[in-house]
Amino acid sequence: MSPVTDIINELVNMHNTSDENLLQLICTENELPQLTSAADKIRRDHYGTDVYIRGLIEFTNYCRNSCYYCGINAHNKNACRFRLDKQDILSCCDKGYPLGFRTFVLQGGEDPYYTDDIICDIVYSIREKYPDCAVTLSIGEKTRKSYQAYYNAGASRFLLRHETADSVHYNKLHPSKMSLENRKRCLYELKDIGFQTGSGFMVGSPFQSAENLVSDLRFLQELSPDMIGIGPFIPHSETVFADCEQGSLKTTLKMISILRLMFPYALIPSTTALGTIHPDGRELGLKAGGNVIMPNLSPDSAKLNYTLYNNKLCTGDEAAEQLESLKIKVRSAGYEIVTDIGNVKR
Ligand code: SAM
Repeated sequence: MSPVTDIINELVNMHNTSDENLLQLICTENELPQLTSAADKIRRDHYGTDVYIRGLIEFTNYCRNSCYYCGINAHNKNACRFRLDKQDILSCCDKGYPLGFRTFVLQGGEDPYYTDDIICDIVYSIREKYPDCAVTLSIGEKTRKSYQAYYNAGASRFLLRHETADSVHYNKLHPSKMSLENRKRCLYELKDIGFQTGSGFMVGSPFQSAENLVSDLRFLQELSPDMIGIGPFIPHSETVFADCEQGSLKTTLKMISILRLMFPYALIPSTTALGTIHPDGRELGLKAGGNVIMPNLSPDSAKLNYTLYNNKLCTGDEAAEQLESLKIKVRSAGYEIVTDIGNVKR
């Protein structure tokens, strides 16, 4: 076993280390302030104190999939379903632009109601009205032809977490009609088309081992995504994982720091899920190496019903309207929210 300081130095200098060393970092019970401060230094070297904001628009909670962990899965008959139309979505952008948002993230379940033509029309209309803004899509697994159509319509970024890079683990979290192979196919096609691509995983999802987390890091090295989104798993009462334990704050923060050291250039959000499990979760995520926050621009009714997990934050600083208060909190953590399209700096 190498001393922890040596492992951190290796990560700082080589952006890589052995599986054994990664496991040691992940499994250590102790807080690792050296890891956090090394990650913060690398983040400052690459991005200064800038925190990019993305305006999240949750536009549908209908979903054809039934991921076992997710509160909006197709089997949840108690979910109160909603859809936003183009005008609703443009109104979210109208609200966000004057607040300083220059990226709009359209996220939703895999909802067949939104044909490719509808998605392309929405993307095109946002880009037409706000040409200095980027449109990010997070709408799940599609064909290459569909992805290409979205790209041609003006979407330049796509978020699709791989969820777990171990196929045995993947099959414990998803029904048999879903596969890790298809998820990976989507991610490689998105990159090949030219999207700035984001992937990621939940920390502490049911059945997850430390070895699984190492596989996640190795897969990300292979994919080399521009954005890496991770957050703790949080149970939802209407899923088969209702009684499972939630992911830990400490491990999530540690994983953010490891990611920052392995992928110094990456856009790493401090996620809503992190803010949900701890009142200072978002600020702690930034201090651990995160450099993106995604406040919610959706109308209240959508925010309330886009319940992926229990107690999801959707009011207070999570709401885009509270940006001023969020700016103050971010500043007191040592960083600065900027008005910027926020492209990756490779
Ligand atoms: N349908 C799109 C997709 O599959 O990428 C986007 C929506 S999906 C709900 C967004 C992300 O929410 C998933 O990638 C997953 O990691 C996260 N998520 C879902 N249920 C969760 C839970 N119970 N706890 C934490 N994160 C969860």
